[in-house]
Amino acid sequence: MTIVHIIESECDGCGLCVDFCPLKVLKLAGGIPVVVKPDACYDCQTCEDLCPQEAIQLTEA
Ligand code: SF4
Ligand code: SF4
Repeated sequence: MTIVHIIESECDGCGLCVDFCPLKVLKLAGGIPVVVKPDACYDCQTCEDLCPQEAIQLTEA
C-alpha cells in the first residue's frame, strides 16, 4: 500500500496534486492537501511528479 506524505513546510498550496490525482485521493484543507481516500492510491506518482515544491513523498507501507 502506498502512503502519501505531504511535507507541509514545503507546500505552497497550489493544488496541482489535488486537481490531477486520478482518484481524488487528496483534498485541500486550509491550503494544505490532506489524504482523504488513502486506500484509493495506486502509486501512479502523478502528484509527486507534478509538485513544484517537491512537497510530496510516496512510500510503501
Ligand atoms: S500517487 Fe497517484 S493515485 Fe496516489 S495520491 Fe498521488 S496522484 Fe493520487
Ligand atoms: S502540488 Fe505540492 S505544493 Fe502544490 S498543493 Fe500539492 S503538495 Fe502542495
